[in-house]
Order: sequence, then structure tokens, then C-alpha cells
Amino acid sequence: MDAENFFTPSFLRAIKENTEASFRSIMAEPSTGIYTFEMLQPQFCKKLMSEVDSFERWVRGTKLRIMRPSTMNKHGVVLEDFGLETMLDRFMSDIIHPISRVFYSEFGGSSLDSHHGFVVEYGISKDLELGLHVDDAEVSLNVCLGKEFSGGEVFFQGVRCEEHVLSIAQPGEIFNYSHVPGHAILHPGRQRHGARPTTSGNRMNLIIWCRSSAFRELKKYQRDFPSWCGECKRKKKERARLSLMVSQQELLKREI
Ligand SMILES: [Zn+2]
Repeated sequence: MDAENFFTPSFLRAIKENTEASFRSIMAEPSTGIYTFEMLQPQFCKKLMSEVDSFERWVRGTKLRIMRPSTMNKHGVVLEDFGLETMLDRFMSDIIHPISRVFYSEFGGSSLDSHHGFVVEYGISKDLELGLHVDDAEVSLNVCLGKEFSGGEVFFQGVRCEEHVLSIAQPGEIFNYSHVPGHAILHPGRQRHGARPTTSGNRMNLIIWCRSSAFRELKKYQRDFPSWCGECKRKKKERARLSLMVSQQELLKREI
């Protein structure tokens, strides 16, 4: 892959340098563990979108039924089925993995070994919005490709384990993000999120879910609460606060 044609020069420099400082120099962290940065060249975004458009036209012409990206998306294409498997392999190993090793080691970010890549399409005649969910991924990359659109913000509501996926969000966990073509947002797959309605135009996003089989295997044997779940952490703090109160009261009783 000719990296210069895909990525913006600043992004490429940071990846080549491959240090936490170089990643941080091009990234913003608007909410804990959520990173945003400029990533893709406009001509690459355009090319990928026109490939998706012609694939969709071909599918309509042949009346074939194709696999859609997920149970939640009726529009869009799976890139592994699209002849882009090798490109996605490189995306994961050369781009997402080095960054995830630094920022997402507690989510299996150091051992990513498979991916599911797709392009989703939103608009009045496409999918309109997406409800709150977690991804079937350890680390998710979401890059806006274009085109012209309004709305479509992503809303985040905190990282949750399986048990607490429906628990309420704490004020510090709520974060809204407006897409900018060429810009990426990187987050843990367990970070709950959804997409607000795309109110006009068409929006296409490239999404790559990265998974770690080692992390999933380890999780099966984990007895302790996951250190990354916002609700588990809150409950642990609450228990500590209560037990402190109880011991203070007992101490007071003894003094009386
Ligand atoms: Zn939890």
C-alpha cells in the first residue's frame, strides 16, 4: 500500500515515529480514552466512496442480496468481501495496533489479531441513525469519508462490561462528536455509543472493528470486576465509601 496516498502527512509522520508522544502530538482526547485525529487524504476518501457506490449499483442491478456490515445497518458494505482484506490487514497491523498498544492495553489493544471492516451509509434514503450499543470489538476506528451532510453526531455514554451495558451514564461519561470528512475517532469497543440522525445529505464512514482472541479468552476466566467498566468502578468506590462509613460509626460507638 502506498501510504502517502492514503494518509495525511502529519498522521504518517506520527505513525512512523511510533511513540506515545508522536501519537499524542496529532491526537485530541476530548473524553477519557476517546481519541480524535485527522487521518485520511481526501482523494482516498473519494476513491473508497466511489468504489462503494459502484458496488451498490452493481448489487442493485443484479438484485443480489449481500451481507450488510452488522445487524444494525441495512446499508453499507463489508470490506473483507470487497477484495480489501489485505488493505485491512495492513490498517490493523501497521496503524491501529501500534496506537492501541499504547492507549488500550487494558482492552486487549496489545494483541489485536482479527478485524471486521465496513463502510456504513447514512442519509434520508439510507440508514438514518443508530441506537446506543457497544461494538463486537476491542478497539474501534471510525473515519468519516464524506460526503456532504448535516447531523449524524456520535454520542458516547461510557465504557461498560456485559453486565452493566444498560446502566445510566455519569455526567463525565457523556460526550458528543461531530464528524469531519477525513477525521477519525478511535475508542474502545465497549464504549457505549450511537449515531444521531443524519438530517440531510449522505454520510459514509469507514469503520474497522479490531479484535483480540487472547483478550477474549482471558476474559472468560476473569473473576474480578473489569477495571475498565465505569459502572464497576463506581460500585467499587461506593462499597469502599460505605465500609468506611460503617467503620467510622463503629469507632464512634466505641468511644461513646
Ligand atoms: Zn461492569
